[in-house]
Amino acid sequence: MSSALKKVETEDLVEVTGLKKYFPIKAGLMGKTVNYVKAVDGVSFAVRPGETLGLVGESGCGKTTVGRSLLRLIEPTAGSVRYRGTELIGLGRRPLRDLRRKLQIIFQDPYSSLNPRMTVEGIIGEALTVHGLASGKERRRRVGELLERCGLSARHMTRYPHEFSGGQRQRVGIARALALEPEFIVCDEAVSALDVSIQAQVINLLMDIQDEMGLSYLFIAHDLSVVEHISTRVAVMYLGRMVEMAPSETLYENPLHPYTRALLSAVPTPDPTRKPNRILLEGDVPTPINPPAGCRFHTRCWLAEDRCKQEPAPEFKNLGKDHWVACHLVDGKTHTLKKDGKVIPAGAGKDGKVSDAEKGGKPLTVVDAKAEHYAKVADEKTAKEQTAKKDSAKGKSGDKSGNKSGKGKSGKQSGKGKS
Ligand code: SF4
Repeated sequence: MSSALKKVETEDLVEVTGLKKYFPIKAGLMGKTVNYVKAVDGVSFAVRPGETLGLVGESGCGKTTVGRSLLRLIEPTAGSVRYRGTELIGLGRRPLRDLRRKLQIIFQDPYSSLNPRMTVEGIIGEALTVHGLASGKERRRRVGELLERCGLSARHMTRYPHEFSGGQRQRVGIARALALEPEFIVCDEAVSALDVSIQAQVINLLMDIQDEMGLSYLFIAHDLSVVEHISTRVAVMYLGRMVEMAPSETLYENPLHPYTRALLSAVPTPDPTRKPNRILLEGDVPTPINPPAGCRFHTRCWLAEDRCKQEPAPEFKNLGKDHWVACHLVDGKTHTLKKDGKVIPAGAGKDGKVSDAEKGGKPLTVVDAKAEHYAKVADEKTAKEQTAKKDSAKGKSGDKSGNKSGKGKSGKQSGKGKS
């Protein structure tokens, strides 16, 4: 056994330490490297068995690069990735291929991630053949089982990707990821390209499969309400670095990093009379080629002090209760954000005050809002049906009485029309 395969005792399923991915910028005739895009710059986290770690942040913050680097779909520049204690960085092709059975990915775009020239049987069964796990009838049986597990039918296996809807294609993508019975799946914006109702179905399917198979997910998304629904813990990234990570409930109820607060303040609420303290960030996200010195968020942070620019970047530290934050203003003893000695409460806007709407309780997230909306629509539909039934019952009795007396409903309407 090579030294790279040496087992190290760890309770985490996947452990990422100081992960970096720099993309070279080439220029000139000779294609000389003149600079680097620092897409991921020293990210550390762990995913535990059976949990879902949500990874959020603005577009371009490096979420997808983290997911792909840790599976070595793109080669990381530096850092360490351990799966059950086995170091993946520097691992040879063959042992890496064997380990890939346990580490899978579901891509964002279900259409472009499926080969249009292959049938569904070929797409899902390919991995079974490559790893020598099944062929012929056995392969067909297993593909059929996987399709049925993912809410499709075994008879779909002869079809091509273009014959499916977006949601069905993503189910095929999930079936393909499950074919090798993995332990860990990177869901890279797996529901972002789907309609809202289909998103809910796919998320529920992912959660059911997780319960059944004890899978762990790294769930990459930019929709905070979706992430809250599925995640055990949530990590927030900004410009290639982690800024906050905590259990889902803690992060949504008491976000500490100013960037997380700004993100959460942008989650829409369904009540139009409720005006949450929206924190609007000014300016654009700086370029990852030359990120700002000190705290990378200081160019947009409304609480920034001189030290945020002058001192080295704040350390990403655990404040206790598994709540990790990288900010100079976070008080580790009390789990609060303090500026000039004053505590800035979780729902506060830029003025440091909490609006009456925020005091009324935690604002509804989009998931709650959608659930309420559908419940309301269902109630209205039932009410309408009941009214229609009553009306038709009245109409019938009216018609009967009208026929007897000569004054039906139609008679009244025609009378009104004349006047
Ligand atoms: Fe803002 Fe300073 Fe905290 Fe960075 S360290 S998030 S600039 S307060």
